[in-house]
Amino acid sequence: MDIHEYQAKGLFLDYNIPVPNGKVAFSVQEAETVAKSLAPGVTVVKAQIHAGGRGKAGGVKLARKKEEVGPYAKELLGKILVTHQTGPQGREVKKVLIEEGADIAKELYVGFVFDRGSGAVMLIASTEGGMDIEEVAHRTPDKIVQCAIDLTVGYQAYQGRSVAFRLGLPKELLGQWVTILGNLYRFFVEKGALQVEINPLIVTRDNRLVALDAKVSFDDNALFRDEGIRALRDTGEEDPLETRALQYNLNYVKLDGEIGCMVNGAGLAMATMDVVQLAGGSPANFLDVGGGASKETVKQAFDILLSDKNVKGIFVNIFGGIVRCERIAGGIIDAAKEVKICIPVVVRLDGTNAKEAKQMLSESGLNLTVADTLWDGATTIVAKVGAAAR
Ligand code: GDP
Ligand code: MN
Repeated sequence: MDIHEYQAKGLFLDYNIPVPNGKVAFSVQEAETVAKSLAPGVTVVKAQIHAGGRGKAGGVKLARKKEEVGPYAKELLGKILVTHQTGPQGREVKKVLIEEGADIAKELYVGFVFDRGSGAVMLIASTEGGMDIEEVAHRTPDKIVQCAIDLTVGYQAYQGRSVAFRLGLPKELLGQWVTILGNLYRFFVEKGALQVEINPLIVTRDNRLVALDAKVSFDDNALFRDEGIRALRDTGEEDPLETRALQYNLNYVKLDGEIGCMVNGAGLAMATMDVVQLAGGSPANFLDVGGGASKETVKQAFDILLSDKNVKGIFVNIFGGIVRCERIAGGIIDAAKEVKICIPVVVRLDGTNAKEAKQMLSESGLNLTVADTLWDGATTIVAKVGAAAR
């Protein structure tokens, strides 16, 4: 789960990580009110979307006078911001963060990311922070310093110092640097994050370290532990179909192909997508209806697949292990009666009571094709979708 910059900065404050004074605003008027409450001087207006690269896309505005805050907020609110991370369709800006401007001497980069390969938390830092960090990592990888942190031991101050020496940070920043890293690590572990990133962590002209940006992603599997973090979820930033799927415990990821796949089990779902591709088609989604799929989940799954306008055919591939095949067949028949399906549907069921289930489907009078094997099913749906397109 991703959160917004303003939310991440709120959490940083709880962990004594310095951030600029500021507050989120949902309207132009609110933006002006917040601006008035801040210190005189430059005020920053920042688009709040779940994507980075805002600076380069015009999503970060520096208002030299307080009177400029309103017009900048007006320009950003409701705007579709397209950054290198949003994809070409962009994201609508629904809120802006209004902050006191900082006096930047240097932009650093620092982050922690969970590295599944080594099972450690990687501390990543660079003196070349700011808007071109990807470029830096690509062209001058030696400017990026890494340090693996053993989860059982946790972050140790010497690791922060060692990274600082490798980066050549000035001595007078060392105390703050080591403390901020320690606090950020504690936040990372306690709150169940997978990634935290401060880019830039700035050095001000009066030698203070301040987190000017904040990007945090939480581990969905740790969300149950923390109600406060769960409350930060912003469904307005999610794909509406994915939000609905989550409500019904369906594991759904939208893709851009045209064959909707309804499968039980993540492994079988991956295999189904591969085989559809091998048969010459392109999957419109990953959808795992789970081991104990019921009539209701099958119906919801059909609804979700049919709501995607790209879907030109549906391939149901279910292995009846925990759940018996005839229950799934019953679910499909009920669902197909309730939701109007006017695209080809191919169903392949295997496992417990597969024979009975196939018979039920064949005798249902519904316009669907029963397939025997995965390959048979995949080639049939690809052929049907191809024929419909011609
Ligand atoms: P991102 O582009 O989405 O990562 O957004 P950031 O929050 O990192 O902002 C992008 C850039 O805007 C930063 O790298 C800074 O150079 C600049 N910026 C942000 N806040 C301030 C500020 O208070 N003062 C100044 N001078 N520049 C700022
Ligand atoms: Mn940034």
